[in-house]
Amino acid sequence: MEFAWTDDQLALRAQAKEVAARLVATYGRHNDSWMAAYSREAAIEVGAQGWIGMTWPTAVGGGGRPAIDRLIVSEELIAAGAPIGAWWVADRQMGPAIIAYGTDDQRARFLPEIIAGRSTWCIGMSEPGAGSDLAGLTTRAERTGDEFVVNGQKIWTSFAAKADFIYLICRTRSVGPPHAGISEIIVPMDSPGIEVRTIADLTRGEHFCEVFFDDVHVSAANLVGTEGGAFAQTMRQLEHERGGIDRLMSNRALYELALERADTTDPLVRDEIGRLECGYRIGRLLVIRETLGQAPTGFSAATKVYCTEHEQRVARFIARVFGADGLLWDQTGQGIVYAPAYTIMGGTSNILRNVLGERVLGLPREPRAS
Ligand SMILES: Cc1cc2nc3c(=O)[nH]c(=O)nc-3n(C[C@H](O)[C@H](O)[C@H](O)COP(=O)(O)OP(=O)(O)OC[C@H]3O[C@@H](n4cnc5c(N)ncnc54)[C@H](O)[C@@H]3O)c2cc1C
Repeated sequence: MEFAWTDDQLALRAQAKEVAARLVATYGRHNDSWMAAYSREAAIEVGAQGWIGMTWPTAVGGGGRPAIDRLIVSEELIAAGAPIGAWWVADRQMGPAIIAYGTDDQRARFLPEIIAGRSTWCIGMSEPGAGSDLAGLTTRAERTGDEFVVNGQKIWTSFAAKADFIYLICRTRSVGPPHAGISEIIVPMDSPGIEVRTIADLTRGEHFCEVFFDDVHVSAANLVGTEGGAFAQTMRQLEHERGGIDRLMSNRALYELALERADTTDPLVRDEIGRLECGYRIGRLLVIRETLGQAPTGFSAATKVYCTEHEQRVARFIARVFGADGLLWDQTGQGIVYAPAYTIMGGTSNILRNVLGERVLGLPREPRAS
């Protein structure tokens, strides 16, 4: 256990701070910048810097750097509010899934464009009738020769309207238990038969989309991993999604603004800042443990619950500091209103507490009603 940063890590952080400031000066400062802020130009700049796929093996074109380097860079980009949504899920999740479960052909076809910041991906998991209960999904991919034909609907798909590919979690078999028969297929978003409709959320943002599939033909070469046996792959992917620094820092940029404005002569305000800073540091330690691969299997559920509930406490602090001014519709109001999303996206806190109880702590499961 070594808590001090090395000279190289400090230099990387200083460099990331500079790049973050430049991106913000060019493309604006954004709340929830990994989730809701999109700039393809920023992605290409950061790709040229070598910071997309920076931890992936050099054999697939990645940077081969330690995971802690990615944490340092991400922390600085998110803290500044730089728009990183164009590459975030591909870097965090889709690339690692393709590296772990994909074919050499898929690695060669998809990874270089992600690394260069030229390809945006979205995640097609949730459906109108299947969010928490992922095994209940009904979007179907029927195998016909060397193709799949996809029919169904996804919802809450972030950036589907901008994405080049959707990483689709779908059903390729209906017999057997619900979690069996699930597959992961990469579908180009310009395939005939795909219709995307944006959904305006409470903050007037439109990263959410509905995606409709009507007889969409996809090459069977785009199947990632085991046909009909991808549930475990998807669970692994969710581990990438839940234990990262993004889940702690979504509103950090807005918090920094609130700190500048807070009345620190008030002891109650100082007390609240002290509590939030403690929470931030505890969350960061949990994330660092995940990043170093030292957390117990499944523990990312707890990390995500802790960190996103911290983000909601931060949002309440921001609301109190800005008071009535927070009601004016600007980035402050938007940031406050967005906060309920933190404990929903990537699995709700209720579900993650179940995961923690059942899979990590080994507590008995609630008997199903017959
Ligand atoms: C900002 C944001 C971005 C998102 N981006 C994406 C994306 O890109 N791709 C994608 O596929 N999805 C995305 N989602 C969807 C997200 O994954 C789902 O909203 C989430 O998994 C919950 O599913 P649901 O909305 O269907 O709610 P439901 O599953 O219907 O749950 C409703 C309520 O019931 C509770 N509940 C349900 N089952 C249980 C249980 N067994 N025990 C206790 N409580 C339970 C839940 O905690 C919740 O409070 C996004 C969501 C948000 C908010």
